[in-house]
Amino acid sequence: MATANNNRLPLHRGDHSFNLFIPPSYLLGPTIGNGEFAKVKLAYDLRTGVYVAVKTFSRRSGRYMMLDEQIIRETLAVKGLRHDHIVRLYETILHGNRVFQVMEYCPYGDLRKFINQKGALSEDHAREFFGHLMLAISKLHSVDLIHRDLKLENILLDSKLRLKIADFGCARRQIGKTLHTITGSYAYGAPELFRGDNYNGKLTDVWSLGIILYAMVMAKLPFRDKGTLQELLDERKEPPALAHTLSLECVDLILLMLTYDPRNRIPLQQIYSHPWLRARELSQEE
Ligand code: ADP
Ligand code: MG
Repeated sequence: MATANNNRLPLHRGDHSFNLFIPPSYLLGPTIGNGEFAKVKLAYDLRTGVYVAVKTFSRRSGRYMMLDEQIIRETLAVKGLRHDHIVRLYETILHGNRVFQVMEYCPYGDLRKFINQKGALSEDHAREFFGHLMLAISKLHSVDLIHRDLKLENILLDSKLRLKIADFGCARRQIGKTLHTITGSYAYGAPELFRGDNYNGKLTDVWSLGIILYAMVMAKLPFRDKGTLQELLDERKEPPALAHTLSLECVDLILLMLTYDPRNRIPLQQIYSHPWLRARELSQEE
């Protein structure tokens, strides 16, 4: 159940009506997001008077074509997570052929929309945002959850303009050292995924973080998402072009995360001590 928070908004939102009732207590309103597989709607929780977001998809289509048991197992994994930078999942409702995931509403939309509107972020702003992502991914990895679909569209901005990670439709627990199935978006995918090898999901998440930091400071993506597997691999062997105006530390960190060979890629724990991320701490200490 959603608890009261500062997502309390006036009941009237333009001309949109809230007219579809989902038991036990949600009135569904307008669509606020369209993913590849799911629709996300603004909804109103009649019990608490709080707006929530409801992601809805068919139990029998796309990547969600899986056993109900799996849906429940996955959502339980995320449901237990309480973190400032991970979107809260309140409940999952199975209703006829559809699944409704009720979650915290992030009124400023996703990071792709934000960057499209504002253009490239300053390094200071990117550092603050990247810090939010680091905290969230460290939390996930500490319980052996790999997100596997980190991209601008799956990162949301809450009412305080803080980043929150969403969309756990591809997330898996990595119990041993590696995973096998390929998933996620090509533009954010690490080379070892395209090679079809077993891979360490913690390091493929780091690659996607590198793409995201690149996108924050360059306002575009470094690699294409189309082409043959060989072309995708070849393109990723070369370091992507970065603006001369960026600091050397920022360029260094991006290239360490976008290192082709996962054995040489910077692991998450070492990113914390990289000079670019520590720059703010150091300037505060002075
Ligand atoms: P899919 O699994 O189909 O990719 P997502 O969970 O990524 O679906 O949601 C699709 C889009 O809906 C997101 O990219 C974002 O723009 C929007 N969205 C998702 N969740 C929320 C939320 N909690 N608050 C506000 N917008 C959201
Ligand atoms: Mg998504």
